[in-house]
Amino acid sequence: MKRACDTEVRPATRSLAARYAGQTVLAIGAHPDDLEIGLGGTLAKMKRHGARVVMGVVSIPKDFDTRLAEQKKGAEILGCELRVLFDEGPRRIEDIKTYELVGKLDQTIAELNPAAVFTHSSSDFHNDHLLVYQACLPTQRLSHFDFYSYHPTNCRPVPTQFHPRAYVDITETIDAKMHSITAHASQFGGRNLDTEMYREHAHAQGRIIGVPYAEGLDVLRMLLT
Ligand SMILES: [Zn+2]
Repeated sequence: MKRACDTEVRPATRSLAARYAGQTVLAIGAHPDDLEIGLGGTLAKMKRHGARVVMGVVSIPKDFDTRLAEQKKGAEILGCELRVLFDEGPRRIEDIKTYELVGKLDQTIAELNPAAVFTHSSSDFHNDHLLVYQACLPTQRLSHFDFYSYHPTNCRPVPTQFHPRAYVDITETIDAKMHSITAHASQFGGRNLDTEMYREHAHAQGRIIGVPYAEGLDVLRMLLT
């Protein structure tokens, strides 16, 4: 006997990548490697489908030249533009004054006029990530972009309470995502950490929507017409 779920019924979908084709999207990450880990597959997919994708890395806390070179490589692998928002040299986010951080984000959003902004989540556990998330919140007053959070990013697995509301099929870009993460050699190979957990995580997310690999996003604001 056929069960209801044997005949898969899916809602009419228009991919996230198609939604932003021909437009600019901006992804904000506190440090190098956050964006690759958090939503590298989604960024590469949006780029491949015609969006201008800007990766905004707030600052590089130390080992500036090495980590900048790795971040450039990571962005290149994903095919995205890179901006280091505070690029004068090593700087820790907690040393940036709130008005300066909000001002820099405002300025970037005013210049790029993105159709979507992606940032850290309120359920992240890294204080720098939370500071960036909080500084991104007021930018919503500037224009009516779609606004998303990505999964907490970490180099070692840590329990989190992040509950995605949207899932992006990244099957076509999982290899680019994994490659872009390993571009940050000082964070992984250099510290003997393996990156395979990111593929496993994407696989587990994919199961939820019936595809091989996915990334989950929380939707903070979205315009539906
Ligand atoms: Zn980080």
